[in-house]
Amino acid sequence: MSTPTVLIATRNPGKVREFVQIFIDVDARFVSLLDFPDVSVAEERGSSFEEIAANKAEEVCRATELISLADDSGLEIDVLDGRPGIHSNRFMGDDATDAEKNTEILRLLHNQPMVRRVCRYRCAIAVAAPHRETRTVSASCEGRIASEPRGEGGFGYDPIFFVPQLGKTMAELSPEQKNSISHRGKAARRAVSVLQRLLSNL
Ligand code: IMP
Repeated sequence: MSTPTVLIATRNPGKVREFVQIFIDVDARFVSLLDFPDVSVAEERGSSFEEIAANKAEEVCRATELISLADDSGLEIDVLDGRPGIHSNRFMGDDATDAEKNTEILRLLHNQPMVRRVCRYRCAIAVAAPHRETRTVSASCEGRIASEPRGEGGFGYDPIFFVPQLGKTMAELSPEQKNSISHRGKAARRAVSVLQRLLSNL
């Protein structure tokens, strides 16, 4: 039997790299939407990370008839009632830079003590395959909003996401360290079993 193809439903090369690294032992050929410039993906649809990831995976699976894997992730801050949550990407509108979003979050939490700066990253990953039920896994990573941005690594909210057990922000970690504790790393390791089970039953 020829090696099956799995389509990672993103055009973010950083995400593709992270996923491919974690899926190294999965016996499949991984491609991404970067290889499918004509496949368009609708605006995110759904009211939870899981629902959005499943809708995206199913939409791309329908368009390509390939096994498709999609993720959705974001930052929840308890004192902001879980915001920005599923709107993390578009918090403050489409044009705001990561630095502007981080400055706004620091402003919203101004003067809040560490105990009230509890937050977490969440990530859901869905795998959709033709004529199969979609499977979804998810994971989270707990942290605190730092008092100021620190570090150059990662992306998005990483400079203000403080990891208490390491005493560093996510942006101060190496990619390997981040992968080992991050919401996406944990969810992707759970997705390995989903993929392996699916591929062994083709
Ligand atoms: P999406 O999963 O591509 O929809 O992105 C969600 C948004 O959540 C990103 O644009 C970031 O703002 C934020 N986010 C998700 N994961 C991370 C992370 O690992 N570091 C920093 N920000 C993240």
